[in-house]
Amino acid sequence: MRCEIVAVGTELLLGQIVDTNSTWLAERLAVFGLDCYFQTRVGDNLVRIEETLRLALSRADAVIVCGGLGPTQDDITRQAIANVMGVPLRRDPALVARIEAIFHQRNRPFTDNNAMQADVPVGARPTATIAGTAPGLICPLGEKSIYALPGVPWEMRTLFESDVLPDLLQRRGDAATIVNHTLYCLGAGESAIAARLAPRLQALDVSGNPTIAFLASDVYGIRVRLTAKAANAAEAQRVLEKEAREVRALLGDIVFSEGRNENDHDPAHHSPEAVVLRLLAERGKTLAVAESLTGGGIGTRLTSVAGASRVFRGGIIAYASDVKFETLDVPPGPVVSEEVATRMARNVRQILHADVGLAATGVAGPDSQEGLSPGTVCVAVVIGNDIVARTLNLAERPREQVRTLTATWLFDMLRRKILGFPVP
Ligand code: ATP
Ligand code: MG
Repeated sequence: MRCEIVAVGTELLLGQIVDTNSTWLAERLAVFGLDCYFQTRVGDNLVRIEETLRLALSRADAVIVCGGLGPTQDDITRQAIANVMGVPLRRDPALVARIEAIFHQRNRPFTDNNAMQADVPVGARPTATIAGTAPGLICPLGEKSIYALPGVPWEMRTLFESDVLPDLLQRRGDAATIVNHTLYCLGAGESAIAARLAPRLQALDVSGNPTIAFLASDVYGIRVRLTAKAANAAEAQRVLEKEAREVRALLGDIVFSEGRNENDHDPAHHSPEAVVLRLLAERGKTLAVAESLTGGGIGTRLTSVAGASRVFRGGIIAYASDVKFETLDVPPGPVVSEEVATRMARNVRQILHADVGLAATGVAGPDSQEGLSPGTVCVAVVIGNDIVARTLNLAERPREQVRTLTATWLFDMLRRKILGFPVP
């Protein structure tokens, strides 16, 4: 089964928005072993969309097109598909009623424009699920299909999972089942991880099943994904779990989270902040944060996790030095040191009545401060009388990365403390 992705939108061509939809779709296809050899971006132009779809169809069994399904003038994807299919658009009265009901439910006026979203090429069908206000389209062309999804990322993802992916897997129809297991790692680079896994990489190179892939990302560290294929789900799962045990043993305490099946793929669920919040919640512990160079970024990441309120008490953004002196009882003097980070963590824990205190103070850059070069960051974790402080060297990194990585490392330090692992 060969797939292609077509992203529609002039904004994409002008560089006004980044085509994250194609990236996300590509990753999902790869997870399920669906080949994708071409990805195209095309503007909101009827002739060029048609041309792109025809070319994609000539090379692939399934074309996933996203964007341009909305109710406005420039949303012409459905017309382009109808032209490629050589059929007219027909308004689907049942679909009009469904869309109208959604508008009523949300107290939004339903206009003629919105009814346009119930126009379906003859021979195509709307997706069973509606995310937002309009469905996607499943459009068969002989043995091939075009799947049309909205451009809004969360709508696109929802409809892909609910309607497109099951259809693709069913159409592939092979007896094989593919399962995945992802290990989320922090604290070692890609080459160090590859070195640790060398014996398994060699063995799997020979057998070809399961396979191992590395995915790097700044915020989430490195993901190691195992993919196993077998005639049935039970067998695939058995092969996968055996391999996962071996890989986990080699990786040890750098694994901070694991996604155990192909539906458990939401990186937000496996972010360092989500993981530490879960660990603290399981232990009935609360958390407070004193942050300087991150300016609220640590609190933002914690509160972006649903259910954070069970654990996170709050934070103090002590950006100016005298705020550290006055509010957090830091002795006047230099403010980037492990002693200062420790004092900030200990005092914020006390002031906000939490079990655990975290702190970060440092030089985000680009300029030096207190004779310290940019990227010098001191962090501390205080759990009762147990204190750990470290100095991170994030030199050569842009300011934004220094701030992001500070939070990530602090969360990972906390994870290591909670689980009794050594803190490097
Ligand atoms: P709508 O009903 O909102 O008009 P639509 O299906 O017509 O949806 P577009 O108008 O193409 O989709 O895009 C809507 C918004 O979705 C864009 O403004 C953009 O923010 C986002 N978007 C569209 N395509 C992409 C893409 N490829 N990657 C990331 N975001 C996208
Ligand atoms: Mg639109």
